[in-house]
Amino acid sequence: PSSQEESPEASLYSKGVAKKLPEYKAVVVGTSGVGKSALTIQMTHQCFVEDHDPTIQDSYWKEVALDNGSGYVLNVLDTAGQDIHKALRNQCLAAGDGVLGVFALDDPSSLDQLQQMRATWNLRHTQPLVLVGNKCDLMTAAGDAHDTATVLAQAWGVPFVETSAKTGQGVEEAFSLLIREIQRVKMAVAE
Ligand code: GDP
Ligand code: MG
Repeated sequence: PSSQEESPEASLYSKGVAKKLPEYKAVVVGTSGVGKSALTIQMTHQCFVEDHDPTIQDSYWKEVALDNGSGYVLNVLDTAGQDIHKALRNQCLAAGDGVLGVFALDDPSSLDQLQQMRATWNLRHTQPLVLVGNKCDLMTAAGDAHDTATVLAQAWGVPFVETSAKTGQGVEEAFSLLIREIQRVKMAVAE
């Protein structure tokens, strides 16, 4: 699916007919192959993409309706892994209201790489981060990366969510957790 695809409601929004909704931008980062694109597309298009081009960086969006009748527009920037330059990655990060830092639960080295990357990010204190362990459908009983990630999330003071872009498990939870953190920070700043 391309990011140009629009649902009928979404096109109303983009034409300015629907009431203006708040817009939140999530940046998805992590090393190549952890499932950043698969997570982004599962969230915005409800399908699993087996072979997304690893070099493509693109943004996707969807309207999220809440039970209380309100809603928001979720904007997701899917970044292009380790290939992009540190300065460019910081530019992408700066554009986000919040960040999903992704690793793959079946690949502990991807968590090490995320940890190394994290040291190069200049996140503002107003930019929440959520640690995402993807591919939970492939997780083995050993669960090494899971335990390490739990400790790391505590050290960073961020939530840790397990997801599978394949089955959809935890995907909405990861994004909605980030949005709630973003809203909380925005309210605190406004006060
Ligand atoms: P990216 O480089 O971080 O954008 O990773 P991709 O989204 O391209 O995913 C890399 C590979 O892992 C692809 O073959 C995906 O189909 C696969 N993949 C992504 N997420 C999952 C998942 O949750 N479970 C499984 N089993 N495979 C996944
Ligand atoms: Mg990708």
